[in-house]
Amino acid sequence: MSRPECSSLESVAVFRERILSKLKYATGKDLTSACKHDWFEAVALATRDYLVDNWEDSALQIDRSEQKRVYYLSLEFLIGRLLIDNLSNLGLMETAREALAELNVDLQDISELEPDAALGNGGLGRLAACFMESMATLGVAAHGYGIRYEHGLFRQVIIDGWQHEHTETWLDFGNPWEFERSEAGYTIGFGGSVSTVQAASHGLGRQSWQPTETVRAIAYDTPIIGWKRASVNTLRLWRSRAERFLQLERFNAGDHLGAVAEAVKAESISRVLYPADITEAGQELRLRQEYFFVSASLQDLLHRHVKHHDIQRLPDMVAIQLNDTHPAIAVAELMRLLVDEHGLAWEQAWQLTVATLAYTNHTLLPEALESWPVSLMERLLPRHMQIIYLINAHHIDMLRAKDIHDFALLRSVSLIEEDQGRRVRMGNLAFLGSHSVNGVSALHTELMRETVFRDLHRLYPNRINNKTNGVTFRRWLYQSNPQLTSLLVEHLGDELLDAPERLLQKLEPCAEKSSFRKRFMEQRQHNKQALANLVQSWLGITLDTEAIFDVQVKRIHEYKRQLLNLLHCVALYQAIRNDPATDWVPRVKIFAGKAAASYYQAKLIIKLANDISRTINHDPTLRGLLKVVFIPNYNVTLAEVIIPAADLSEQISTAGMEASGTSNMKFALNGALTIGTMDGANVEMSERIGTENMFIFGMSAEQVAMRRLAGLDMSAEIAHSQRLASALEAIRNGVFSPDDPNRYAGLVEGLQYHDRFLVCADFEAYWQAQLRVEALWKRPMHWWKSSVLNTARTGWFSSDRAIREYAADIWNVMPGGSGKLGE
Ligand SMILES: *Cc1c(COP(=O)(O)O)cnc(C)c1O
Repeated sequence: MSRPECSSLESVAVFRERILSKLKYATGKDLTSACKHDWFEAVALATRDYLVDNWEDSALQIDRSEQKRVYYLSLEFLIGRLLIDNLSNLGLMETAREALAELNVDLQDISELEPDAALGNGGLGRLAACFMESMATLGVAAHGYGIRYEHGLFRQVIIDGWQHEHTETWLDFGNPWEFERSEAGYTIGFGGSVSTVQAASHGLGRQSWQPTETVRAIAYDTPIIGWKRASVNTLRLWRSRAERFLQLERFNAGDHLGAVAEAVKAESISRVLYPADITEAGQELRLRQEYFFVSASLQDLLHRHVKHHDIQRLPDMVAIQLNDTHPAIAVAELMRLLVDEHGLAWEQAWQLTVATLAYTNHTLLPEALESWPVSLMERLLPRHMQIIYLINAHHIDMLRAKDIHDFALLRSVSLIEEDQGRRVRMGNLAFLGSHSVNGVSALHTELMRETVFRDLHRLYPNRINNKTNGVTFRRWLYQSNPQLTSLLVEHLGDELLDAPERLLQKLEPCAEKSSFRKRFMEQRQHNKQALANLVQSWLGITLDTEAIFDVQVKRIHEYKRQLLNLLHCVALYQAIRNDPATDWVPRVKIFAGKAAASYYQAKLIIKLANDISRTINHDPTLRGLLKVVFIPNYNVTLAEVIIPAADLSEQISTAGMEASGTSNMKFALNGALTIGTMDGANVEMSERIGTENMFIFGMSAEQVAMRRLAGLDMSAEIAHSQRLASALEAIRNGVFSPDDPNRYAGLVEGLQYHDRFLVCADFEAYWQAQLRVEALWKRPMHWWKSSVLNTARTGWFSSDRAIREYAADIWNVMPGGSGKLGE
């Protein structure tokens, strides 16, 4: 089905008519009364019609071929905008541009009116979005399941250097991509009690759960189209709705608020995304969200399955992937549905459950390992708590039967944590209930085997496997960087776009050609100018586009070590002031990222970045050699502007703490050079790109573990580095916070005496690596050669490759007829 984009006169005329028809009949406007937003809506709706035509074809194709279906359960989908994505995958970009031009409307202009759908916090949610696009491209029959949050991730506003969170209102003007499916609704229960209704022949009673509280889950479907219309899948997001909107008796009795209280409570479930990237919620509403979307999704997929197949064939026809432990309650819910609703015997239900479910782990951080108090579970999900106890009991019996009696081992693999109050360990539940448990980079997977799941791994040595993350090149290269894309197509041909994993490497010889390097540099320059314009208009700061654009954009978290980068800013600032005559390499340090609203230390880091930025940018002695900017409200749309403009990509987490990272891949794909630690996917990137084309520094994961054994006091490291000592000193003494000289005293104290993320321990190595950056920048031929090689050697980090691995190793699915799985 790979027909190249052709914008015939005819297709342009058809599109134009469709837009005008939407303008008239969907927005009720005409050419004179239409505002820009009406145009956006008309174009989006016209585009959606093309999606729907292809959607129907895909649905028929899947039904006819009896393809096994994949269900991707994720509490987050960080989607971003969809207009350009959809037009581009439909092959209608030029058609749409020309059709609109004839109407005197600029496509770029109106595409910027689309809100950025931020139904996720960061990497985990963005991975889900990339996977959805890749599955459609490869013809994997997939449904994404999640929550249709009324409010996505907060909008970050910086006031006086501090982060403030404003409510995100992405649905204000409606959402042209979705279809409400009022008919596809399910009842979700909470609370109540469980009773034994009838004694079965084998002596066990059948259990019946009578919840006291119920809410409705209503489906909203968004079509997700693959590259060149390969196939169209569905992202089904659930909205919670009360069973009764109004208690009329109470209303009539004059209790107007009380009459809607129940409805408000029910609808609060899908009201807002939890704004923490690493779990710290632990609240009841979060558990309600998790169970709500899991139950609706499992009821929905079982309903679809039993229409055509026997329940026994579930694992033959269905694969369910759990994106982190957020949907781990699926283990107990699937058991409940199979045993209580479908009448299967426990053993058989367990076999089907394990064979159907698979779990992706995303982090080893202890604070991120979800667990729920037994008391809360008993109150909210009493039947599930029973099931979890039963799974646990069966498991321990099975181990004892295998003559395993080691008490410490039994304790560590138990589903119940006994030490800090009794809690249910969702990681262990997901592990036991799945046939596959995967990490997201080679290093992360290895560490999973050695740490969090050490004991479970000994019992189930074949269950843990690795699936290194990837990103979709359609969004992170073709759409975000059209300049580079046309340069690549010019040299490698149109086929590149269909098979970048295979063809990008053919770019390698170009790295040796000065004419090509020049073109490569020019596209970067163009993108840097676009970013400089944005910074100028948003922040009023002028950037030198000849300087190195040195970029760290990601969630603000101590383990990601924005502080290490900020210490470098300060040390560099001091070095330039002390020695203004040296031929310093001009540098622009660019930061962006959100902090969890309740994460004080991360918010203080944002304030420090802004304080440093203000001081440095206003210091005339620097002659503009160093600028520091913090760009507010990092999201997918902003990432699409920043990443193609980066010369240097900062991937400097404490080794062993970043599970994979995906922005590292986006940057390298666009030709930025990475300065980074041997952490997450950086390790595999270095194997493919070559360490000579990166700036690798610092302690390895193993060395980090060793260093920690020696304590977290960094006095010796600080005494050893004059540079580090004076940078810390300046921050501590209020050089950057004259209005509140003590603002950072505690922060600096923490770095000196309790440096959990080993910032000080890696500082000198980082400084040296930054010197290598400058040395290479001064040799442009070598810099740009490396830059080209970064793009040429990043093909493997495509999410198509990742999905192919999931499909073959975990899901056991074959691609659909129109897909290109076998590239
Ligand atoms: C890719 C991406 C991330 C993940 O970035 P990491 O640096 O890998 O943590 C987070 N947010 C957005 C908007 C992204 O596009």
